[in-house]
Amino acid sequence: MSNVKMVEAPAGIEGQGFFATSLDKVIGLARANSMWPLPFATSCCGIEFMATMGSNYDLARFGSERMSFSPRQADLLMVMGTIAKKMGPILRQVYEQMAEPRWVISVGACASSGGIFDTYSVLQGIDRIIPVDVYVPGCPPRPEQILDGVMKIQELVKNESLRRRNQPEYKALLKSYGIEVE
Ligand code: SF4
Repeated sequence: MSNVKMVEAPAGIEGQGFFATSLDKVIGLARANSMWPLPFATSCCGIEFMATMGSNYDLARFGSERMSFSPRQADLLMVMGTIAKKMGPILRQVYEQMAEPRWVISVGACASSGGIFDTYSVLQGIDRIIPVDVYVPGCPPRPEQILDGVMKIQELVKNESLRRRNQPEYKALLKSYGIEVE
């Protein structure tokens, strides 16, 4: 008996020898199971991410084993660790260099809120400079929580419109961050 689990097929119409569904759903399914993460890891939460990539937790099972260290070939920005205010513009530049569609996970208390570092030099949450799709709590979060965050992103990706960037809500969100979309 095989232990390999297949992803669930999207809703559609099925009959003998055929299966029909919409293009949106097929593309959502493909995107959700082939996310290319860009790990923006600055401190201890990054170590948990390394464990998430290791054989025990194995992010590759979710189709995300291909890390991208170039923003241009990444669609999932994973921010892990303390972000100093000086680093803020760099993080924003990385985000802006990513092509649409793109998603963001904020991993851990520091990235999400500054964590215990309520100081003049630490950004009190990356959502002050870029929009965030999923927040993973914890200091540090366990690899299971990071995987849970990735699965939440997969749900979003599967159910989003093919042209996310054309939606008025998304445009308004980016505009509120001063990011223009063509
Ligand atoms: S949330 Fe905790 S574990 Fe993560 S970077 Fe901050 S201090 Fe380190």
